[in-house]
Amino acid sequence: TYVIAQPCVDLKDKACIDECPVDCIYEGPRKMYIQPDECVDCGACEPVCPVEAIFYEDALPAEWAGYRRADQEVFAPV
Ligand code: SF4
Repeated sequence: TYVIAQPCVDLKDKACIDECPVDCIYEGPRKMYIQPDECVDCGACEPVCPVEAIFYEDALPAEWAGYRRADQEVFAPV
């Protein structure tokens, strides 16, 4: 899955939403989130983000590794 990291926080440009073929990018209170179970790893969202906040999960910069869990937890069943 792809993951949305820190540059999106308090920005939410949303250019990614128009590119996602499966509509798996959702708006949270402070950033956008990718639903990991719905993402088909097409990569379409990554280049259109104006602040380069989107990464393939294995390519996340180490300091933003926690965002992988953040995106997962938003959609985790309670
Ligand atoms: Fe959507 Fe593709 Fe980005 Fe996954 S990689 S969130 S499917 S645009």
